[in-house]
Amino acid sequence: MMEGHNVVLDTFAVALLFGAPGAGKGTQAAYLAETLRIPHIASGDLLRYHRAAGTLLGRTAQSFMDRGSLVPDALVVEMIVQRLDQPDARRGGLLDGFPRTYGQAIELDERLGERGGEVRIALHLDVPPRALVERLAGRWTCQRCQSVYHERFNPPRPDFTCAVCRGVLIQRADDRREIVERRVRIFQRETVPAIRHYETQGILRRIDGDRPIDGVRASLLATLADVESFELAS
Ligand code: AMP
Repeated sequence: MMEGHNVVLDTFAVALLFGAPGAGKGTQAAYLAETLRIPHIASGDLLRYHRAAGTLLGRTAQSFMDRGSLVPDALVVEMIVQRLDQPDARRGGLLDGFPRTYGQAIELDERLGERGGEVRIALHLDVPPRALVERLAGRWTCQRCQSVYHERFNPPRPDFTCAVCRGVLIQRADDRREIVERRVRIFQRETVPAIRHYETQGILRRIDGDRPIDGVRASLLATLADVESFELAS
């Protein structure tokens, strides 16, 4: 964490992190959430948790996820709203991977409104599509804590255990090339309209994600510090 700069959300407000599959959301999100002092809520991680636990939601989501399709909006919205109702999300959360469609964005705005909250800022980690497939192909994910590594850009330990929790690193089934290409197409078709929705509201900030991890991190922090409604504490 960068010393001396903690960005805090003052009321119940949500920050969104958008990015195509492979844009680096997972790598940046934990750090950002820590900086904002709000929980990191990743829809993909929650769904994988439900799968591992064998819940009805997990079993329903499985086939959509393995072929790179989106899980139906209604299921994902309920899952996220329930998560936002947990005590640790009293002040909000950093949503990563949600909303993924225009319908989810509208529903999120409505549900937050009912709770006296709002989306305060939407960050888009922008990476050109050609770079995405290469990034995902070398990606390794911790089975336990979901930390992500990359053979070239963020190498894992030689024994392929997680540097954070010592869990076993695996290559996700949906990181296979043909599935990745499908996920990128779905991002363009379904998620870009959700991003535009926040652009229209004037709360979207685009960050060039096609750079080394530290540079992207610094830009994200500078962007957050630049937003009037964020208070910088030392
Ligand atoms: P991710 O870890 O964000 O790449 O998500 C992995 C998979 O989970 C996606 O390819 C979808 O099948 C599913 N998923 C995650 N978030 C959502 C969402 N907001 N809406 C629908 N499906 C989702």
